[in-house]
Formats: sequence, C-alpha cells, structure tokens
Amino acid sequence: MADIKELSIIGSGPAGYTAAIYAARANLNPILISGLQPGGQLTITTDVENYPGYEDPIQGPWLMEQMQKQAEHVGTKIISSQVKKVELKDKIKKLYLDNGEVIETKTVIISTGAQARWLGLENEEKFQGHGLSACATCDGFFFKDKIVAVIGGGNSAAEEALFLTKFASKVHLIHRRDKLRAEKILQERLSKNPKIEFVWNSEVTKFIGGTDITSIEVLNKLKDEKTVIDLDGVFIAIGHDPATKLFMGQVDMDDSGYILTKPDTTRTSVEGVYAAGDVKDKIYRQAITAAGMGCMAALEAEKYLD
Ligand code: NAP
Repeated sequence: MADIKELSIIGSGPAGYTAAIYAARANLNPILISGLQPGGQLTITTDVENYPGYEDPIQGPWLMEQMQKQAEHVGTKIISSQVKKVELKDKIKKLYLDNGEVIETKTVIISTGAQARWLGLENEEKFQGHGLSACATCDGFFFKDKIVAVIGGGNSAAEEALFLTKFASKVHLIHRRDKLRAEKILQERLSKNPKIEFVWNSEVTKFIGGTDITSIEVLNKLKDEKTVIDLDGVFIAIGHDPATKLFMGQVDMDDSGYILTKPDTTRTSVEGVYAAGDVKDKIYRQAITAAGMGCMAALEAEKYLD
C-alpha cells in the first residue's frame, strides 16, 4: 500500500512551522513542503521586536531559521519543493510536487501566506528593512520623531498612517487619486490628525538614499510636476495578494482570493483541509497571529484524524 501521510503542510512561514511543531509532537509525522521562498515574509525583514520571548530585537530570517530547526527537531520532514497541483476533494488528498513526487495525505494545512504588493521601482528590494516596509505594525516603532510616508488609499493605508502618527513627527499620505478608498470614519480621523499631510494625485517615482532611504521623488500626475520629499521611512500599503491560485475551485475563497474558514476555526469548505495565517487573514497579518492559527490548524487536524 502506498505511504499515505497523516498530515501535510504547505508553506513555511510562522503558520506552517507552528502547525508542524504541534503536529509532530502529536505523533502525526507531518511533512512540510517549504516552497520557493522558505520562511515567508519574515525573511525580507530585519529587526523583529514584537514576537514574544525575546528581550532584544531579533532578525526576521534568524527567527524563521529557528522555527524550521524546531519543527525538524521534533520530527517534521521538510521537503524543499513546490506544490504545482492539488486534488483535495477526496478523503485521501493528493499533492503533486514539482520534483515529480506525488504525496497522498489524509489532511492538509494550507499556510502559503500572502505577499505584500510593492511598487516595482528600482532599489525597492535594496531598501527593504532600510527605511522601506510594508508593515507599520511591525516597523512603525523604529520611526520615533521621524518623517515617514505611506503609499496607498485603502483601509490599510489609512490605518497604517494613523498608527504611524503615534511615533512619527509627520506622515505624508501619498495617493494616486484625489479620493481615498478607505472607510469614511478612517478618512475623518485622517483629516483631523495634524500630523497627516495628504499628497494627492501623486505616485512615487524614485527611492533615494545610500544604505537607508533619505528621500523619495514624487510625480504629481495632474500638474506633471516632480518634487522630492525628505524622509526617514516609507510604508507601502497598496494591498496584498494571498498565495491561493493553486487552490482555486477546490476550497471556498472570498472575492480577493483569501481562503474562507468556519468561524473560530481554521476549517475550510473541504473536510480535512485547514487554512492558517495570512492566506486566510487580511486583518491582522502578524507572525504571532499566523503562528496561533498554525497551532489551531494542527489541533483541529489531530482531532479530525482521531
Ligand atoms: P485595497 O483596499 O485594495 O487598497 C489598495 C490601495 O492602494 C488603493 O487605494 C489603490 O488605489 C492603491 N494602489 C494599488 N496599486 C497601487 C499602485 N501600484 N500604486 C499606487 N497605489 C496603488 O487594499 P488594502 O487597503 O490592503 O485592503 C485590502 C482589503 O482588506 C480591503 O477589503 C479592506 O477593506 C480590508 N481591510 C480591512 C481592514 C479593517 O477592517 N480594519 C483593515 C485593512 C484592510 P486606488 O484607490 O486608486 O485603486
């Protein structure tokens, strides 16, 4: 008989590794398929100061390496490959890997995460963690009494801008149109906040600096005029893309492609299939909340297998 796994985890961010640690310690002999960018979004950050358990700031890539080692230490088998096709509907689910392997498994935890959208400008990668961020909750604290900019006009941009006013001396909110998409109540709070300066009809065209960002070039599209804004930090908040293409048509998703789960659980619309972390969460998007959901998914899978 083929070797049918009890539990397979797809994705290697905090959700996936935490699920693996709990599942391994419950003797489920989990496998974890780590994908192309092992470690997920934390591998492109530097200082992490909000993951509990560490007195001093730690490095994102280091934290993910530790989670991987911990998962392996307790018995997870990690496969460095990518899943290219899945069949989830039947009791025994099939995962087709790009190394040619086909995995048969009774349960699956989807923890493939989401990716922040970036502007696609030159130097964008170079400045990530050096003044450029896609997460104010993670990095805002580092900009006490500094000048920052937030790019975007949706709820995320509005919330990030308001959050940043707690630390920064000034927050430029740069939007490509003259109207925000964010909810009215957030718009009102932004207008009332003296630290917010709106930059309408404008797009960032250049990031400028040495090791760290020191200014940005901004194009006002109506006036066709370029200006330079001196600042210390830039927060991109133009949306996220959940990595769910692989699962389309197999588990229920919302209009933006986030996997839907039953209230207060990680259960998807398919029995034996669970979703944890940013792949199902567009509100919190934190390493610690993803890890918490990974734990829930492993416990729920264990119960189902029982
Ligand atoms: P979003 O609603 O899709 O907004 C993205 C914003 O970025 C838009 O204003 C868009 O401009 C702008 N944008 C997109 N591509 C751009 C580019 N290349 N250059 C410059 N600007 C660009 O994304 P989101 O704010 O991340 O929110 C995603 C979802 O999560 C929404 O459904 C939102 O309501 C929800 N959310 C809810 C909460 C909450 O309930 N507290 C918090 C955060 C997010 P245009 O307006 O011109 O298209």
